[in-house]
Amino acid sequence: MGKNITRKIIEKHLVSGEMVPGREVGLRIDQTLTQDATGTMAWLQYEAIGIGRVRTDLSVSYVDHNTLQMGFRNPDDHRFLRTVAAKSGAVFSPAGTGICHQLHLENFAKPGATLIGSDSHTPTAGGIGSMAMGAGGLSVALAMAGEPYFIPMPQVVKVELTGELTGWAQGKDVILELLRRLTVKGGVGKVFEYAGPGVASLSVPDRATITNMGAELGATTSIFPSDETTRLFLAKMGREGDWMELIADADAEYDDVITIDLTALEPLVAQPHMPDQVCKVKELAGKKIDQVAIGSCTNSSYSDLKNTAQILSGKMTPPETDLLISPGSKQVMKMLAREGLIEPLLDAGARLLECSCGPCIGMGGSPISAGVSVRTFNRNFEGRSGTQDGQVYLASAQTAARLALDGEFTDPATWGPAPERVSLPEDVPSIRDLFVFPPEDGSSVEVLRGPNIVALEDFDKLPGTIEAKVLLKVEDNITTDHILPAGAQITALRSNIPAISEYIFSRVDEGFVGRMKEHGKGVILGGENYGQGSSREHAALGPRHLGVKAVIVKSLARIHRANLVNFGILPLLLANPEDYDRMELGTDLTIPASEITPGGTVNLVTGDGATVPVTNDLTKKELEIIQAGGLLNAVREGKS
Ligand code: SF4
Repeated sequence: MGKNITRKIIEKHLVSGEMVPGREVGLRIDQTLTQDATGTMAWLQYEAIGIGRVRTDLSVSYVDHNTLQMGFRNPDDHRFLRTVAAKSGAVFSPAGTGICHQLHLENFAKPGATLIGSDSHTPTAGGIGSMAMGAGGLSVALAMAGEPYFIPMPQVVKVELTGELTGWAQGKDVILELLRRLTVKGGVGKVFEYAGPGVASLSVPDRATITNMGAELGATTSIFPSDETTRLFLAKMGREGDWMELIADADAEYDDVITIDLTALEPLVAQPHMPDQVCKVKELAGKKIDQVAIGSCTNSSYSDLKNTAQILSGKMTPPETDLLISPGSKQVMKMLAREGLIEPLLDAGARLLECSCGPCIGMGGSPISAGVSVRTFNRNFEGRSGTQDGQVYLASAQTAARLALDGEFTDPATWGPAPERVSLPEDVPSIRDLFVFPPEDGSSVEVLRGPNIVALEDFDKLPGTIEAKVLLKVEDNITTDHILPAGAQITALRSNIPAISEYIFSRVDEGFVGRMKEHGKGVILGGENYGQGSSREHAALGPRHLGVKAVIVKSLARIHRANLVNFGILPLLLANPEDYDRMELGTDLTIPASEITPGGTVNLVTGDGATVPVTNDLTKKELEIIQAGGLLNAVREGKS
């Protein structure tokens, strides 16, 4: 049987498991990337493992998210990241150099390599044939320490591209079409592997836009072949030596096949508030537009912004339509400047922002109240723009630039000829000197921590018997937002577990933190679907810091359950859900922790002598991790 690209890369990096869809496989990781919003904790976790120099071929620490300083906390994080990278042997990319995914594509990603990043859009590097996946901060820290990355073996979906893009249709419209067909849940457990005669007609920036937004399908990752187009791109980046051909065998097998005729595509747009709410641009004709934002890791390449400048040249946006442009990297910015393309952008009324994530995470450039914002980004969730009732639409850079001139949605049939497809110039300027490469020997480097950077504490092992009170009783459907609210004030404390722990359950029960401090340890009693929502690790780290030993619930959300295991908190399931009513705030409990076996049942004993049977769905490995006091301890003890 011939092999597809995904199978070829996984086979080459397999350290454990069988390549059967759904079974766990452990992969050797060649490269990692972190960004400042999630990376500061990832690096604190890496320090806590105590491994010294990174054991990957390459690890890069980018600063691109929190770049608009509003106090000392963010710059303190950046200085910590610079110094810990130097000490540990990682490359550092300072604030303003660009967005991690655009920079990684231009400077470091390699065909055939495995890459994990503490950011969900890491699959951007799949545009040049990397197997690139978004992961939690602890997984990235462990990969930097040389540990494998574990995933369920994905199904591989072949996306057969036929024809060629014509007119105003762009790579963005390919992925919007896929989102329209499959929805944001359509890619779970799958890799989307692009193939067919249409691939050759797509540029690397188009391919990277498509793999970037594969994350919105919920996919494990997306990947393009590494072909002649890839070789030329890498050659222009001064990295031809990083190229290797990577194509599927002619008789490769796939779990599913989807066909997209590129020729039939026309400009599409995702409507509020989900990337899969896709319609044709012309269907919205007449709707007023208050803001257009061009940039983000999805569409901020040289070709996107050169086309934008060509579309806007000699024209002006209407005064009631704001236009924001944030280039993806200083390399893009330099090429625009050199070719005189900044001036037409400025003359058209654009605000030129720095090379960073910026408005994509509401960091400057929020739309007006209830404002319609057309963005070239990848996500349009409610409130993400920084304006709670903002109406965000997602489109290609070319569509967004054209709509900025009209100040309203219009029919592409009225737009006139599309701008020419852009290829990179012969002499692409290098920005390699802007990266801070680590010294050969980092032992004399001092890691600098401001008051907001607090090293991870050592967590103790699980005791054989836990004597603790129920110090919080909550209802069904508790989200990670209930456990730890979001918001700039709290987010700035992500590198400071003691400080951020003060906010645990603060909007549910103001007395919880005080009770935990008084007793030093405790148990949380919850209902169904406890811990649903985001993957934030702090929703487990904070309770662990406060001394939570176990959560006893009717059912648990999957990712939060994994985080509880990683940080050494016992996730126990009530064998009889009605026992929830037999325990109250303050109930004394004895938990025979040493008697717990994978999937087994044990009896808790309450203060008045009643027994409450609890079970679990832990594997042997997970139970060992909890007994060791969490994954960091287990790795240090060689148990994981
Ligand atoms: Fe995330 Fe937006 Fe930054 Fe991309 S540009 S890494 S989606 S915040």
